[in-house]
Amino acid sequence: MKDTPSASQVKMSSWAVAKLTFCQWLDSDFRREGLPDPATLPQKVNWQRTLPFIFLHLGCLAVFWVGISPVSVGAAVLLYFVRMFAITGFYHRYFSHKTFKTSRAAQFAFAVIGNSSMQRGPLWWAATHRHHHKHSDHDEDIHSPVVSGFMWSHIGWLTSMKNFPTAYKSIPDLSKFPELVFLNRYDQTVPFAFGLLMLAIGAALEYFFPALGVTVGQFFIWTFFISTTVLLHGTLCINSMAHVWGKKCYETDDDSRNSWLLTLITLGEGWHNNHHRYPHSVRQGFKWWQLDLTYYGLKFLSFTGLIWDLRPVPKAVLEEGYTSSQSRA
Ligand SMILES: [Zn+2]
Ligand SMILES: [Zn+2]
Repeated sequence: MKDTPSASQVKMSSWAVAKLTFCQWLDSDFRREGLPDPATLPQKVNWQRTLPFIFLHLGCLAVFWVGISPVSVGAAVLLYFVRMFAITGFYHRYFSHKTFKTSRAAQFAFAVIGNSSMQRGPLWWAATHRHHHKHSDHDEDIHSPVVSGFMWSHIGWLTSMKNFPTAYKSIPDLSKFPELVFLNRYDQTVPFAFGLLMLAIGAALEYFFPALGVTVGQFFIWTFFISTTVLLHGTLCINSMAHVWGKKCYETDDDSRNSWLLTLITLGEGWHNNHHRYPHSVRQGFKWWQLDLTYYGLKFLSFTGLIWDLRPVPKAVLEEGYTSSQSRA
């Protein structure tokens, strides 16, 4: 068997790097013979591989040309919350933690909605998140503000080639579904289709309802670029801010915190210290007053029969917390 060379042993021309990067945009599992295992690469920003994310952010600036209308902003806000629910309820509480059960069709449908958020595929997301819980705020945690600083924990880690591959071995319960593997592998497909759909809806609104003041460009910029970028940062705040700001109510082996502000923008994920204490529960707001809109949404879905077997917080865990509550903000 040939040895895989280390990163420092491989010298590639700019053209070869561009070709490789292009293949990896289209197929996130693409590997070329003779190149080092990405897991052995150093943690550093890779600008080429990150271009789709940069493009997403730059696209928001077009708002200065396309302007604003209540319908475009309303649609952007609605899409923010619907897709945030798919991320928090399914990418996080279902795929990453298996806190309830659902059908194969429903898991695929919510994986598609979550995938439109440009937070990569559900399998990569779950594998990365399980790794976070295993090593939270310790040296191996790839997005800990305590270990690597705030900016790296928020956005830097997402740009590093080392963190791009999906650790399929850590998610055998998910990688047995070929439709989920397909979504995960070609993770730009759904965002691309979502963008086309927004263009089509924008064009239809402009043509059939001119009185609304919507143009195709305006609808596209608000729903695709602005809604998706804000949604991405809302989610990323849980990796960064939720390990820095807020109250620590449980003595966990990390710096996770509970924060009302983060709860409001992430539909209940701000109770992050609760979540690190007991990640197997479908609820993250353990107390009745801890607003957890994702939980209420999932509870509603359970009434429709779409999901079932929601895992509760054990009584012992409920009674254990809030004895050493102290603000560290
Ligand atoms: Zn965490
Ligand atoms: Zn989690």
